[in-house]
Amino acid sequence: MAVRAGREFLAIPGPTTMPDEVLRAMHRPALDIYSDAMVQLTDSLLRDLSRLFATKGQSYIYIANGHGAWEAVLSNTLSRGDKILVLESGRFAIGWGDAAAAMGIDVEVLKGDLRRAVRPTEVEARLRQDAEHRIKAVIVVQVDTASGVVNDIAAIGRAIKAADHDALFMVDTVASLGCMPFEMDAWGVDVAMSGSQKGLMTPPGLAFVAANDRARRVHQTAGLRTPYWDWTLREGSEHYRKYSGTAPVHLLYALRQALDMLFEETLENSFLRHRLLAQTVRRAVETWAQAGTIEFNISDAGERSDTVTTIRMNNGYDPAALQRYCNVKCGVVLGTGIGDLSGKSFRIAHMGHINAPMILGTLGVVEMGLDALAIPHGDGALETAVKFLSEQVRA
Ligand SMILES: *Cc1c(COP(=O)(O)O)cnc(C)c1O
Repeated sequence: MAVRAGREFLAIPGPTTMPDEVLRAMHRPALDIYSDAMVQLTDSLLRDLSRLFATKGQSYIYIANGHGAWEAVLSNTLSRGDKILVLESGRFAIGWGDAAAAMGIDVEVLKGDLRRAVRPTEVEARLRQDAEHRIKAVIVVQVDTASGVVNDIAAIGRAIKAADHDALFMVDTVASLGCMPFEMDAWGVDVAMSGSQKGLMTPPGLAFVAANDRARRVHQTAGLRTPYWDWTLREGSEHYRKYSGTAPVHLLYALRQALDMLFEETLENSFLRHRLLAQTVRRAVETWAQAGTIEFNISDAGERSDTVTTIRMNNGYDPAALQRYCNVKCGVVLGTGIGDLSGKSFRIAHMGHINAPMILGTLGVVEMGLDALAIPHGDGALETAVKFLSEQVRA
């Protein structure tokens, strides 16, 4: 017997659930890519992306995924042989660093840990040692989608300033933009990147980069520039150049709709909604954890992300069995553990187009699975979650 029917529910950290309005926005003919309507669509999106990143800098839209945006950032700002410092806190900054190494960049990893955030004091200490300023850029993720950590980007920005170092500060916001506060200019970030398919409720296929004036100056002498990614080639008045070719018309319609919905909700409310629903998940996980088998991956409660929760399963229990149950029996797809957490963990994403029934439903299905598979867990998780949310969301 299964109780699976209708839509499969994705509780994975990307691609995420897309609103029906976003899906419908794509169901129309293509635009003449040289028309005024097309130019206006692009201009509105570039303006709103800079608003999302909270920067006066320039935004760029690529037909790519997050990996493409990583390469866009690196190729526009660095030269072969340049050194960069990668701040480890899970999988994704390391992945960005791997791309850099493959491009001929000299990559140093500031050793971190899968179970905690980057420590700004360690960043400052490492940069102080670099008296000759050989490090040209510092790269980090705001949220690491594998470990479930949130890094304090403002504090890392202050640490770089305190070390009086001129390395570019480059931040991956793929799993956080639109869901959690991000203040590119105020936090001293020079380059930020993101993707369409996580918090931004849009199909996979668009990648975004924002660069401030300092980064664009450094860009002038970057040796790794190639035509498709090159900011300068995209900056001219000719619209066709903005995408280095044909515009991804339908994805742009989808993004326009998603951003309209986000701004209509207001960013403040989106951030609060994500926080409350993340806290709801964490209340449930805390309760399950009382029996010792289930455990948060991120040890410090203050370092757990509001967009994804990574949950370890100890004592030889198999997270794949739980994932299978939730999917096959109930149509809920949980995130799988990746990197060093593969086979040891599962993830619940709570980013983008999410609401109380989706999150409470997901938690209920996970608990069904824990029961059905006789995986030890503390009791009352759903009750605690509902009680928490009802106290936060008053009549
Ligand atoms: C998903 C993700 C990426 C990679 O994005 P793709 O679109 O899969 O290439 C990069 N960084 C973070 C933090 C992510 O969550």
